[in-house]
Amino acid sequence: MFHGRYGLDALSRAMIWCALALSVPTLFIQHGSAARYVLSGLTTVILILALLRAFSRNFAARQSELYRFSHIERNIGAFFARARDSLRSGRNEFEERRKYKHLTCPQCMQKLRVPRGKGKLRVTCTRCGNKFNAKS
Ligand SMILES: [Zn+2]
Repeated sequence: MFHGRYGLDALSRAMIWCALALSVPTLFIQHGSAARYVLSGLTTVILILALLRAFSRNFAARQSELYRFSHIERNIGAFFARARDSLRSGRNEFEERRKYKHLTCPQCMQKLRVPRGKGKLRVTCTRCGNKFNAKS
């Protein structure tokens, strides 16, 4: 029955999943409420659109839709990956600040770090060899 028709692609499948997800809350919303009408209306529209796409003979238009969809999907994926990375690096920085004190060599401005909680330290700069006292 899909002969010569476009068939289900990733976008149509995503639309069907989306419609199913939207239909779940309607099971818990009382009959006759506006929210229920909106949700079931949306579910129906999305399902009809997904079916129209599947039975379409206009492959070029459907493929360009799929292309746009995969582009958006990639952007969303990249957004979450970035959010996850910044969360992780933020946590690492917090650990770093808790364990080490960051100092600057007064002679060459080289950034140095010393372990915290060691009292008064005699710090030797790794770049210029300058020695100075610091509290950790
Ligand atoms: Zn130095």
